[in-house]
Amino acid sequence: MKDEFLQRYTRQMVLPDIGQDGQQAIHDGHALIIGLGGLGSPAAIYLAAAGIGHLTISDYDRVDLSNLHRQILYSDQDIGKKKTQVAGEKLRQINPSLKITSIDHRMSDDELIECCSNVDVVLDCSDNFVTRHAVNKACVANSKPLISGAAIRLEGQIGLFNLQKNSPCYACLYPEGNDEAERCSAAGVLGPLVGIIGSMQAMEAIKLLAAVGECLDGRLLILDAATMQWRSVKLQKDPDCPICSRPS
Ligand SMILES: [Zn+2]
Repeated sequence: MKDEFLQRYTRQMVLPDIGQDGQQAIHDGHALIIGLGGLGSPAAIYLAAAGIGHLTISDYDRVDLSNLHRQILYSDQDIGKKKTQVAGEKLRQINPSLKITSIDHRMSDDELIECCSNVDVVLDCSDNFVTRHAVNKACVANSKPLISGAAIRLEGQIGLFNLQKNSPCYACLYPEGNDEAERCSAAGVLGPLVGIIGSMQAMEAIKLLAAVGECLDGRLLILDAATMQWRSVKLQKDPDCPICSRPS
């Protein structure tokens, strides 16, 4: 390993659970991040900084003034620019060896399935149920782990789906059609809350790539930021789930 590599990641590699092999596994990793907003910003920053080899970043929005209180990839001067463009530049500044693939249009279901087939892990950092269900279907179709985050008002949650054959999928938890189409644009959210959840999504992705510890497989963590109470809910695969339990 080159000196620059060793020096950059020394505080990670000194961890016995990571070491050189874990760092190499992170370097060989490819993650897809859907949504470069409040969750996607810290998730992408931490994965880039941690030395992931390849990030595919997807967002079709432009930076808006009302994003800046929580979307920490962007600055005042970025208003009006494409989020993928600004994010790509910022992430390359953090880690020049990072390979970035940018997708700046709304992906069709087929495109999403194709995109998921090329990655090791998917981080859903979107803000709506239509996208979340489309991402879940693409992950199930490709048997890819899905790290799903959400935050609204003072409540956040994170779960890991599809890790193993008997793991629940997102639709086992939230069946399609029960969508309360509530977004933080209407309900509001505090910036550090999306920072907490997005950072945890990056943490789970790093653990997964480096095979460290125990992932959130089949568990949903729910944070009430008003009281700073966490709840851990065990999830079961729904034997009647039309997405992951369909007979093949
Ligand atoms: Zn399911």
